Amino acid sequence: MTRLESRATVGVLGGGQLGRMLGAAGLPLGVACRFLDPAPGAPAAAVGPVHVGALDDILAARRAMGDAPVVTYEWEGVPAATATALAADALVFPGANALDVSQDRLAEKQCFERLGIEVAPHRESDTRAVLDAALRELGTPAILKTRRGGYDGKGQVRITSPAVVDAAWEAIGGPDLILEQFVDFTRELSVIAVRGRDGEIRTWPLIENHHRDGILRVSIAPAPHLTRELQAEADDLAAKVLSELDYVGVLTIELFATAQGLVANEMAPRVHNSGHWTIEGATTSQFENHLRAILGWPLGECGARGSSAMVNVIGAWPDRAGVLAVAGAHWHDYEKSSRRGRKLGHITVTAPDDATRDERLAAVLVHSRDDG
Ligand code: AMP
Repeated sequence: MTRLESRATVGVLGGGQLGRMLGAAGLPLGVACRFLDPAPGAPAAAVGPVHVGALDDILAARRAMGDAPVVTYEWEGVPAATATALAADALVFPGANALDVSQDRLAEKQCFERLGIEVAPHRESDTRAVLDAALRELGTPAILKTRRGGYDGKGQVRITSPAVVDAAWEAIGGPDLILEQFVDFTRELSVIAVRGRDGEIRTWPLIENHHRDGILRVSIAPAPHLTRELQAEADDLAAKVLSELDYVGVLTIELFATAQGLVANEMAPRVHNSGHWTIEGATTSQFENHLRAILGWPLGECGARGSSAMVNVIGAWPDRAGVLAVAGAHWHDYEKSSRRGRKLGHITVTAPDDATRDERLAAVLVHSRDDG
């Protein structure tokens, strides 16, 4: 193998922080990433060339990807048409079918149900009359969500009682909605898994996620009190989805833990915020394994190295010296300008055991200045 043959180029649709961390994971592997992003100065610019253009602009996408033999994406909002068009000249992983399913909450739920995976009872809702009928069937509390385009809690309203239906309809009413019964969960988890081109599947330990106002704040991995049975349930569920979609790359499924077992909320066909801890906290990070998978290279071990927690930096930075003085703390700056509610970076703490992780996490949180 010559030096040049040992290297690879990957085109990435989207150049945000996920693209930046994919690119950074590629550097030691000899993988050069190139990006398409609508915003000038996107975070990925630090790790590879970013072509500025819209993600639905197929000519711009072709120019940005150049002659990269493999193309992937770091945002599930990428139009499936762009992925399909690029597939004429390159291998696109995950395939456009993963975008089709994950961009529509209804299609996503139907996919889970087809595979025998529990989801919240739900109804399509596109007029006020249909919503009223759905509410009579499902009862309150419920959550009304837009089928497409919602993220970080946007595009959804809680309907805590019939009295607030008017306000909910006022806020997001219109076509293409889905009403979900409120799941009585004990905690929120996510499972991140990777499937290689040869169909091999590996799963990282389950992650416990803490949200506020619909935005992920803290992830803990492995999830506290993780049993073999719970991990096996998650592994099995992830493997079913990966195989069903003939998926290549990293996939994340957000889950509710309930007394009756795991309930799937949604999937992201990409590396995920709840998996950032894997950079320092796992034998192989989600970013490295995503690259390995899409390039057809052997997958790395997904085991945890001790215990980790990840804290998102939202809107405002904590005191750097204070955070870095905490043992096991790792600082990640996405080099984005500060804006209220914006994810600017994250901090991971690693520790040999759960008790030490909790102490270190508490020491980091003292400095948090989250404004979101
Ligand atoms: P989502 O955009 O679907 O990930 O929802 C954002 C957050 O809202 C989730 O992480 C949950 O905390 C909450 N949530 C969403 N759907 C439900 C549901 N059906 N039942 C209870 N909580 C939910």
